[in-house]
Amino acid sequence: MKICPLCKVKFEDDADFCPVCKAQLDDLKVVEKAEKGKIPKSFWVSILAVFAFIVFMILLYSFFYSKIHG
Ligand SMILES: [Zn+2]
Repeated sequence: MKICPLCKVKFEDDADFCPVCKAQLDDLKVVEKAEKGKIPKSFWVSILAVFAFIVFMILLYSFFYSKIHG
């Protein structure tokens, strides 16, 4: 199977170009593999959340440290 990168319409293997937009068709297996290899957005959001938490803890720690030690 092949898929149009613009219309996301699937075609038979013997088709090379999309009849609608004339774009060159991509191999569906290659596209699906690439999609699977992508890192989901939620992963980066959780990384960012952990990073923000660490920065917050460091700031909190340095705040109290300066309070105790002048
Ligand atoms: Zn198309």
